[in-house]
Amino acid sequence: MAYDNVTAREPSMAERLDAELRDAHPIEILRAAVAHYGGRLALVSSFGAESAVLLHMLSQVQPDTPVLFLDTGHLFGQTLDYRKQLAAHLGLTNVRDIRPLYQDLATADPQAKLWQTDTDACCRIRKVEPLDRALGDFAAWITGRKRFHGGDRLRLRVVEEADGKVKFNPLANWGKAELDAYAAEHELPAHPLVAQGFPSIGCWPCTQPVAEGEDVRAGRWKGLDKTECGIHVARAPGAVTDMGGDI
Ligand code: SF4
Repeated sequence: MAYDNVTAREPSMAERLDAELRDAHPIEILRAAVAHYGGRLALVSSFGAESAVLLHMLSQVQPDTPVLFLDTGHLFGQTLDYRKQLAAHLGLTNVRDIRPLYQDLATADPQAKLWQTDTDACCRIRKVEPLDRALGDFAAWITGRKRFHGGDRLRLRVVEEADGKVKFNPLANWGKAELDAYAAEHELPAHPLVAQGFPSIGCWPCTQPVAEGEDVRAGRWKGLDKTECGIHVARAPGAVTDMGGDI
């Protein structure tokens, strides 16, 4: 039979870690990420509505891990304040503000209104490309994505690989009740916009409050056929960036 000559492919490191960690507690997953990747590991956080849980866990495991915060230039003032207050509160010592290149803004978005005409191009110069540059030599990164947010995230693995980097998603298995319980147990300060009806918070032009019963991310790019910013879409080397994930 032709099958006799087929040799099974060795599982990749990400696949092995995913098999080991798929039912693990988020803190275990963070510990494994630090143990395997140490100084070549970063966490990417929007300091948004649910960010405090993962950032608190990181502060318990390795508080000097680089935390990359994408300051797109269009964030709510409340998010910028929250980023400073939460980082200080949790004792995170290595939060890095990542910004778009001045020349990209001067060329492609001189009036800071690109979001009105081309949200994909706006996300590309303000989020996707700055994060690509910031992740540079890191071998692995940690995200706060969760399956319960729906869409493409329903199939989210705990450990995956994209663009040659390993991605850890420690909260993939957690639901809203677990997040709320953890935040209450550790008395984590909430993003101030949560109380105003924003369960998911990005840039101010592209974020609206949601009505009761709507999906968590229903207020993001409302009215557009867009649900993600492109950060989590795997790209082949040299390929045009597909605009489709956010943190
Ligand atoms: Fe621009 Fe909106 Fe994307 Fe922010 S979320 S980078 S304002 S298109």
